[in-house]
Amino acid sequence: NNVQKNDFIRNIIRDDVNAQKYQQIVTRFPPEPNGYLHLGHVKSICLNFGIAEEFGGICNLRFDDTNPTAEKQDYIDNIENDVKWLGFEWAGEARHASGYFDQLYAWALQLIEQGDAYVDLQSPEQIKENRGSFNEVGTPSPQRDASVAENLALFNDMKDGKFAEGEAVLRAKIDMASPNMNMRDPVIYRVMHQAHHQTGEKWCIYPMYDFAHPLSDAIEGITHSICTLEFEDHRPFYDWAVEKIGFDLPPHQYEFSRLNVDYTMTSKRKLKQLVDEGVVSGWDDPRMPTIAGMRRRGYTPEGLRDFCERVGVTKVDSVVDFRLLEFSIRQSLETTTARGMAVLKPLKVTITNFDEAVSSWESQKADSVNARWDEDAQTLWLKQPKHPNVDMGEREIPFTETLYIDQGDYEIEPPAGYKRLSPEKPEIRLRNTYVLAVTEHITDAAGNVTELKATIDPATLGKNPEGRKVKGVIHWVSASLGVPATVRMYEQLFSAEDPSSVSDVHQALNPNSLTELAAVVEPSLANADAGTRFQFEREGYFIADSEEHTSDKPVFNQIVSLRDSYKP
Ligand code: ATP
Ligand code: MG
Ligand code: MG
Repeated sequence: NNVQKNDFIRNIIRDDVNAQKYQQIVTRFPPEPNGYLHLGHVKSICLNFGIAEEFGGICNLRFDDTNPTAEKQDYIDNIENDVKWLGFEWAGEARHASGYFDQLYAWALQLIEQGDAYVDLQSPEQIKENRGSFNEVGTPSPQRDASVAENLALFNDMKDGKFAEGEAVLRAKIDMASPNMNMRDPVIYRVMHQAHHQTGEKWCIYPMYDFAHPLSDAIEGITHSICTLEFEDHRPFYDWAVEKIGFDLPPHQYEFSRLNVDYTMTSKRKLKQLVDEGVVSGWDDPRMPTIAGMRRRGYTPEGLRDFCERVGVTKVDSVVDFRLLEFSIRQSLETTTARGMAVLKPLKVTITNFDEAVSSWESQKADSVNARWDEDAQTLWLKQPKHPNVDMGEREIPFTETLYIDQGDYEIEPPAGYKRLSPEKPEIRLRNTYVLAVTEHITDAAGNVTELKATIDPATLGKNPEGRKVKGVIHWVSASLGVPATVRMYEQLFSAEDPSSVSDVHQALNPNSLTELAAVVEPSLANADAGTRFQFEREGYFIADSEEHTSDKPVFNQIVSLRDSYKP
C-alpha cells in the first residue's frame, strides 16, 4: 500500500512546499484530556503525524486543556501513551494550551485596547437570546460600546475573582448581524472558579477553546491546522483572531470529514458513560473502540495505520464498514504471529491403541518428522515450526493418549457438505501428527456427544495412509499436558448500526458482545508472555491478555477471525 497519498490536504501542502511558503511544515494533534482517545482520533493522529513525516516537518502534541472541569492528568498520561503506541513521535515536549494562559490573557487585553473585545454582564440566557437566529440580526449587548478603560477594569475584576460564574464574560466585538452565528460576538473568556490540573489555583478565568485554539496554533508556528468538518463554521473566527492579534505568517485551518465506522461509537463523552456505568470493564475493555481497548484486544498499530490509509481523507461524510478495520488488522497479523493449537470447545478423545501405535513411531515416521519420545510422561513431543516462515522458530507439541478436539468437529448427524468427523466419515488427519479414526462415540442422556474412542494409524506420522485418501485436517490439544485457558470471543459491542443515533445507549448494546470459553491450549501458547499474539489454527487470531494472562491461568482475547468474505 505504498501509493503516494493524494488527498486534498496533502495536495495543498505539496503546493505550499513547492511554493516555498514555509520553512518547515508544522502540524499538531490537539486532544482535550477529558477521556481516552478513540478510533476517530487515530485518523487525526495518522493524518497530522503522517503529514509531518512525509513532508519532513514536525507535529506537536498539544493538550487543549481550556476546560478544567472535565480534564485530568490520568487522561493526559494515557493519551501520550496511546500516541506513542501508534508509532508516532511529537516534537519536543508535549504542549498544553494552559501553558499559554499568560500570553492569551495579554492578547485578550490587546483586543480590549484595540476596541475588539468587551466585557458583557448579561446573563448567559440573555446573551443567547440576544444573539438572535440566522435570519434575524442580533441585539447588541448594552455593554458593547463601553469604553476601553471600563472594559479593562471589568476584565481585571473578572480575573481577580470579583464575578461569579456566568456573571461576566469577555466577548469579541465582531458582527451581531453576521449570518455565521459564530461571528456574533463570540465569548472568548469566561469565569470558572475551578482549579486546573496544570495551573492550579492561578486562574479563575479561562479562555474559550475557539479563542485559545488559533492562537495556540500561532504560538507554535503551526502551518496547517487540520480539524474535522464541524469546525468549518468556526474558521472565520479562527482567521479573525490571528488577524487581530497580528502574525506575519498566520496558521490556516483545513477541515476534513470525521471518521465514522458502523456499529461503532466515536465520542469520548458517550464512551465515558459506558465506563462510568460499568457496562464495560473500563476504558481498555477489549470491546471498546478506544486505542487502549483496541490495544488490549490485540489490534496492531500497523493495522490501524493501514486502515486509516485505506479510508483516506476527504470532505465527504461517510460511514466506513467495520470489516475494513478487521481486514487491515487481519492483514497485519498474517505474517507476524506464531501459530498454535487451541481447542475452544473441548471434546475428549481417548486413543485406544496409543501404546501399540507410538511404540513403532520411530520406525514409522516420515523423514520430515522431528519428534522425541518421553517414556516417563508417555508423551510424543512433536517439533513444529511456529509459522510457515521457519525463521520464527519451533515449538514442541505433546501428543498423548487422551486428547481434545473441538466439539464442532464431530457430528452424529452431519449437515450436508460437512467435511469433518461423523459416524459415516470416521477418519481425519490430526494436524502435525497421525491420522485418527473414531471407533465409538459416547453420549449423555440428552444425546450430546461427551467423549470419543478412536485409534490412530501408526503408519501415518507425517505420511499419507496407504491405499486410501483421508480428507480433512483438524486441530487438537493433549488432554493431560494441554493447559485450561479462558478464551474471550467478541462480537461488536453495539448491535445498532449507528449506536450514536439511539437515545438510550443501552438499547444499542449487543448482548452477545462477549462470550467466555473454557478452552484448552497447547503449552507453547500458555507459556507465552502477556501481550503475545497468535494465530490459533483454524480459529482466528488471539492475544494473551496484557492484564490477566499467566502461564498457569492463561487468558486470551480474540483479535479477529481468520477470514471473512468481505473484500475491500
Ligand atoms: P470527542 O467528541 O470524542 O470528545 P473531540 O473532537 O471533541 O472528540 P478532541 O480531543 O478535541 O476530541 O479531538 C482531538 C482531535 O481529534 C481533533 O482535531 C478532532 O477533530 C479529531 N477527531 C476527533 N474525533 C474524530 C473523528 N471521529 N474523526 C477524525 N478526527 C477526529
Ligand atoms: Mg474537541
Ligand atoms: Mg469532545
